[in-house]
This record gives sequence, structure tokens and C-alpha cells, in this order.
Amino acid sequence: MHRNPYIALPLLLATLQSGAQSDFAEEREFMVEQVVRLAELTGAETGRPQFKDQVIEALRTVPRHEFVPEAFRGADAYRNSPLPIGSGQTISQPYIVALMTDLAEVGPDSVVLEIGTGSGYQAAVLAESVDHVYTIEIVEPLGRRAALTLERLGYSNVSVRIGDGYQGWPEYAPFDAILVTAAPEAVPEPLITQLKPGGRLVIPVGPENEVQSLQVLEKTEDGQTRVTHVLPVRFVPFLDEDSAPR
Ligand code: SAH
Repeated sequence: MHRNPYIALPLLLATLQSGAQSDFAEEREFMVEQVVRLAELTGAETGRPQFKDQVIEALRTVPRHEFVPEAFRGADAYRNSPLPIGSGQTISQPYIVALMTDLAEVGPDSVVLEIGTGSGYQAAVLAESVDHVYTIEIVEPLGRRAALTLERLGYSNVSVRIGDGYQGWPEYAPFDAILVTAAPEAVPEPLITQLKPGGRLVIPVGPENEVQSLQVLEKTEDGQTRVTHVLPVRFVPFLDEDSAPR
């Protein structure tokens, strides 16, 4: 068979063009607009009608499609909804990721702990504006995949560990902020211990398969704690070594 050499170049150009478009910048911008609008709508309840610029900028930057399974690796990745990531777990809704990041009140010098790495997306959003993110995932395949994704995308300021986040990560404590992205029935005591005075723990608390309360637990300079309810939410349950899928 003789192949026409002249069709090769246009084909190559078409491939390059679609490659450039597959950055999904437009879809990401649309997602950001939806998050901004939802923040305004829920502002009276959350007390945060407008998220900080650094949070919005992070959403605008992190390629969410790189964190989801192949089947959703298109415009679907930028819908304002959670998506399945395997092992019965989900990547949180972008609005919730933004809200939790805003509630953490972190800055360029902050060292943050996340419990529930999942896809690694929340860790990447945090990593855009803090010094270092330590993140723990109890489901090994998820943790491994997230670590690879974060490394591939150049997030050298994120450390992933496989294990039960209940105990926190004492070697790097205390933390300026701790984010928990699975819901325990009560706040794990070790996480309060590993919070710096002046630090903030952002955590959904409540029973499995019921509406939970997204809470901010602040540790005051004198070591007291103050808890504020922010929003009713639904997160996947906080697992232990026995209940986690392998
Ligand atoms: N932050 C994630 C959301 C993942 S869903 C993201 O951006 O994609 C919550 C994750 O918490 C799940 O992957 C689940 O396996 C994990 N998880 C549940 N209990 C845990 C525990 N005790 N320690 C660490 N991770 C836990």
C-alpha cells in the first residue's frame, strides 16, 4: 500500500492543536465562575461569600482532569460535582475544596496536614499557596496513584504517606492547619494535639451516610479550642485499618 506523504503534516498539526486545547483552560475558568457564584450564594451561612484570591488562583491553576480516572478526563472533570476515583472513594466537589482551603486560612509559610489524600487534588490546591503539605491516605492504591500524579505535575512540596490518618503525622507536627476530607463521628484527639496554637482544623464530623457538619476547630494561643459549624455536608466515612479496602 502506498501512503500519501502529503496528508501526514495536516494530521500532525491537527494533533498538536487538539493537544493544546486539551489543557481545558476554558472548562477550568467555567468551574471557577461556578465556585465563585456558589460562594456568594452560601456566604450568609458560611460567613465566606468571597474566597481569598489565592484560593481562586489555585483552582484556576491546578489541572483537575489529571486527578480523575481516564473516563472523566475531559470537561467532566470540571463540573462542580464529586467524582468516583476508585476503591469506593470520591474526589470532592470543587466548591467544597475551595471552601475548606479558604477556611484553613493558610499562607506561604504554612505547613499543612491533610487526612484523606484520595486523588491528590485537594493537596495540590493547598500546595499552590503553602510551604508544605503532608497528606495521609489509608487506601494504598489511591495513595500511590496520588503520589505519582503529584510528582508528575511537579508538586515537590507535597509528601504522601499510606496509613491511618487518625494518628496524624507526629514527626512533622505541629501544623498551621489540618484538613480532613473524610468524616469521622468525632474529631480525632491526636489531630487536635498536632495543631499549632492559633492553628485551624477543618473537618466534617458526623455519622456515616447522614448529613455531617463541616466544622472549624480553632486552637487559641492558650491551647483552648473553639468549634464553629460552617455547613451541612456529606463526605465519605473516615475509615480505620480494618474497614479500608485494600
Ligand atoms: N482530598 C481528596 C478527597 C478524597 S475522599 C481529594 O482531593 O481527592 C476521602 C479520602 O479519605 C478517601 O480516599 C479515603 O480512602 C480516605 N480516608 C478515609 N479514612 C481515612 C483515614 N483514617 N486515614 C487516611 N485516609 C482516610
